[in-house]
Amino acid sequence: MKNANLNIVTRITKTSNLKHQTSKPNTKYQLRCLGCGKAIPDRYTNICPEGHDSLLRTEYNYSMQIRKLSGMGMFNYIDWLPVDAAMPIGASPITYKSEGLGKELGLKNLFIGFSGYWPEKGAFMKTCSFKELEASPTCLRVKEKSGKLLVVPSAGNTSRAFAEVSARTGMPVIAIVPKSSINRMWTTTAPENQSSIFLIAVDGDYSDAIAISNEIVKLEGLIAEGGAKNVARRDGMGVVELEAAFFMRTVPDHYFQAVGSGTGAIAAWEAFIRLIGDGRFGEKMPRIHISQNLPFAPIYHAWQAGRAEIIADKDMINAGDAIKAMYSDVLSTRNPPYSIKGGVYDMLVGTQGTVYGITNEESRVAGKLFESEEGIDLDPAAAVAVAALITAVDSGVVVKEDKILLNITGGGYNRLKADHRMNRIEARMELKSSAQLALDVVETEVSEFVRGHL
Ligand SMILES: *Cc1c(COP(=O)(O)O)cnc(C)c1O
Ligand SMILES: [Zn+2]
Repeated sequence: MKNANLNIVTRITKTSNLKHQTSKPNTKYQLRCLGCGKAIPDRYTNICPEGHDSLLRTEYNYSMQIRKLSGMGMFNYIDWLPVDAAMPIGASPITYKSEGLGKELGLKNLFIGFSGYWPEKGAFMKTCSFKELEASPTCLRVKEKSGKLLVVPSAGNTSRAFAEVSARTGMPVIAIVPKSSINRMWTTTAPENQSSIFLIAVDGDYSDAIAISNEIVKLEGLIAEGGAKNVARRDGMGVVELEAAFFMRTVPDHYFQAVGSGTGAIAAWEAFIRLIGDGRFGEKMPRIHISQNLPFAPIYHAWQAGRAEIIADKDMINAGDAIKAMYSDVLSTRNPPYSIKGGVYDMLVGTQGTVYGITNEESRVAGKLFESEEGIDLDPAAAVAVAALITAVDSGVVVKEDKILLNITGGGYNRLKADHRMNRIEARMELKSSAQLALDVVETEVSEFVRGHL
């Protein structure tokens, strides 16, 4: 065991350079359909050309053993990212060993993966959530593989992450968010850098934003970001687990995360599969513990019922009201990739995983405990994950010596405010929900934006 650990260290130092990074841009990776098993070259391909209801998964051709490079933020792990170039702005998630919360819960090996802003710990993700890990490689992959302009619907955190990347790189993006989430749209860059962002506010919730996005993306020159099916998003979020594995020198026994779509947890599973394949980080697949925020918890209800499908009438009763009542509405995905091959259900089966339904009150208490023990404010979603960990400890599902990775998917907003201005992004358009959308009204303005940026 000791020797294996040393090996990692030597490897890291020996290979910390970019030598063969750009030598084989076209053969670095391919996509594999988990439905038919065929290899597919990447042309910003998000679905199998033969139409299988399956995720595609990236296969990296060289570097079965991943290198941790240096000085490039999340792109230190470019070996396992579906892009050719690194983006100069890549901040990185961090991992550290908990003292306060670990002691409080009686856990000796509690490790925290933190995606957000916390300079004292070396975390500089200014959009304060792990959505930033999805945005950077996705923008790059679009540029490298499609040459089109990205359309991103979200409940706020995703669009903000893409907007920040856009403001800092000039890569254009069309962001579509519910009006109620418009206060989540800001960047830390100067307002004059926001011209590459076309923000649309929608009168409705997250699913209305998605519906409108599905219409707008039909316009010339635009491409859908792709959600869970987009390998750049998943492999980007997988960097949390890669960073943790290098820090912990092993994959964990247990992994905890709050989910809306579950994309982040699928990403964790895929990262663990690759890390186990690497050979230096252990052989046992971690158990993945995901949590949803009651009253809106379709994955939780379907899994409790032992179903591989989500049934709206049973698992999403009064969805609109339920979503409004949530402590963390970024977890309000109505159509998670649950049944699709390689999706959430397969992930849970493949990792002996489990799902928790967490109340608002439990989340609040957990968030407070985390802040007082660890010293940073949390995104409400991350508090849901902390509450799930507390539940698991109380029920004896995890024990004292277990190596646990708690994915704190967002936090540090208050800390960021102390250091940076948060400049609001103004919406260029406000739209009624998709039923009344007249595409020709939108078309003129959007097309002008597209022409100006392609
Ligand atoms: C989006 C989000 C999640 C949930 O991620 P999914 O991949 O949709 O499951 C969790 N935490 C934060 C802070 C988020 O922004
Ligand atoms: Zn296929």
